[in-house]
Amino acid sequence: MKKDDLKSLVTQLYNDLIDNIDAQERPNKEQVVEYLQDSAITIQSLHEDEIDTLEHAKQAFTNAYKIIAEQGICSYQETSNKFLDLTEQHQENLLRYKEDSLVDVHKITEKFEEIHLHMTEEVHRANGVIHDLYDRIKELEESSQLDPLTRVYNRRALHSYITQVCAKGKLQHELHFLILDIDDFKNINDTYGHVAGDKVLIFLANLLKKTLRDGDKIFRYGGEEFVIILNRIDDEHCTQISQRILKLVGSNKLIYKGTTLQVTVSIGSTKYHDGDTMEDLLERADTALYKSKNNGKNQMNMEKK
Ligand code: GH3
Ligand code: MG
Ligand code: MG
Repeated sequence: MKKDDLKSLVTQLYNDLIDNIDAQERPNKEQVVEYLQDSAITIQSLHEDEIDTLEHAKQAFTNAYKIIAEQGICSYQETSNKFLDLTEQHQENLLRYKEDSLVDVHKITEKFEEIHLHMTEEVHRANGVIHDLYDRIKELEESSQLDPLTRVYNRRALHSYITQVCAKGKLQHELHFLILDIDDFKNINDTYGHVAGDKVLIFLANLLKKTLRDGDKIFRYGGEEFVIILNRIDDEHCTQISQRILKLVGSNKLIYKGTTLQVTVSIGSTKYHDGDTMEDLLERADTALYKSKNNGKNQMNMEKK
C-alpha cells in the first residue's frame, strides 16, 4: 500500500465514522457499536497494510533511496497522529451521547478504551520501527563514506570534509592537502592482473593508516589516487611526512603469488589558505603531483600559493 492510499484510507475511516454518527438523529446502542466495530476492523486491517508500507520503505531505503524512506516514516508518523486524533474524536462524540438514554455509555466506553489501547500499541510499535529505520539510515550513511576495497574514506567523504573546512573560511591551524598517486600502476595491472592491483591498493591504504596520526585523514580519491589531509603541521613537517611515506612504500614489499611487487608513489602537496575552495586545493596539489611525475616519480613536490 502506498503512503497516499494509507493516508486517504485513514481520512476516509474518520470521515465515515463521524458522518454515520451525525446522520442519526438519535443513534441507538447497536448502531453506535456497529460503527465502532467497523472502525476497529478497519484499524486492524490497517495494521497489516502498514507493515507492507514499512517493508516497502525499508526496501526503498536499502536501495539507498533515503528520501523515500524518510517520507515513508513521515507518513507513518502522520498515521499515528491520525489515530490519536481519531481517539479524541471518539471521546468527544461519546460525551455528546452521554445524555442519550438509548446509548449504553458503559459498554461504549469499554469499546473506546479497547480501540484506544490498540492505537497506543500501534503508535509504540511504529516508534520502534521508526528508530530502527533511522539507525539503518545512519549505518548506510557511515558505510557509504567508506571505500569498500581499501576501507579508507571515499571521494564523497572528501567532498563533505573539504566543504566543511572551506566553509569556515579562516582556519585556526595549518592544513596540508596531499595527492598521492601510485607510479606505473597500469604496469602492475598489466603484468600481474587486476587482483594483484587491488592487493596493492589495500596494501598502500593499510600502510598509510598505520603511519599517519589519528587527526590525519586518508581518502581514496580515484582509481589509484589517494588524498591525505594533514592537520596541525607546517610546511617542513609536511615534507618530512611525505618523505617518510615514500620511504615506507618503497621499502615495504608486497609478496603476491611468490613474486615481490615493487611499488612506489608520487606525491603533490599544498597548504590550505583562507578562502580556498576544493578546486583550488586540487589544482595546486595536482600541479605539484605533475612535477613529481615529470621529474622521475617516487618523490614529492609542494605547490605554494
Ligand atoms: P603514472 O605513474 O603516470 O601514475 O602511471 P599509472 O600507470 O599509474 O597511471 P594510469 O592513469 O595510466 O593508470 C592507472 C591505472 O589504474 C589504470 C586503471 O586500470 C587502474 N585502476 C584504477 N582503479 C583500479 C582498481 O580499483 N583496481 C585496479 N586493480 N586497478 C585500477
Ligand atoms: Mg592516476
Ligand atoms: Mg598512477
